[in-house]
Amino acid sequence: MDNACLFCRIAAGEIPATVVVDGPRTLAFRDVDPQAPVHVLVIPRDHHSDLGALAAADGELAAELLETIAQVAALEHLEHYRVVFNTGASAGQSVFHVHGHVLGGRDLTWPPG
Ligand code: AMP
Repeated sequence: MDNACLFCRIAAGEIPATVVVDGPRTLAFRDVDPQAPVHVLVIPRDHHSDLGALAAADGELAAELLETIAQVAALEHLEHYRVVFNTGASAGQSVFHVHGHVLGGRDLTWPPG
């Protein structure tokens, strides 16, 4: 655990979150600033800075993360949804503990309109 990492502290229960899936190696919780009716963040409990770091260090855990994302979609009754892994500051990553955004519940066609 990295004590300076917000999502490590959420995984440790030190900072409250609205949990959707509480798994042994992964956790899903609602985003505090939702961009869609359903906006859930899915993280591994272990600290890895981004998707590339996770994939290089622990492919099994990366697969578990995808399974948890699919579980969130099923629990939230999302037939159609988007999964986003912002990777790097210029791609919009602001928390450097890998997380997938699961977005759904509205029209997400891209480009809009
Ligand atoms: P990113 O910009 O891809 O790194 O995403 C970070 C996400 O974390 C943003 O969508 C924030 O709204 C969300 N976030 C920040 N702090 C919290 C928190 N305490 N609980 C839940 N979500 C958070």
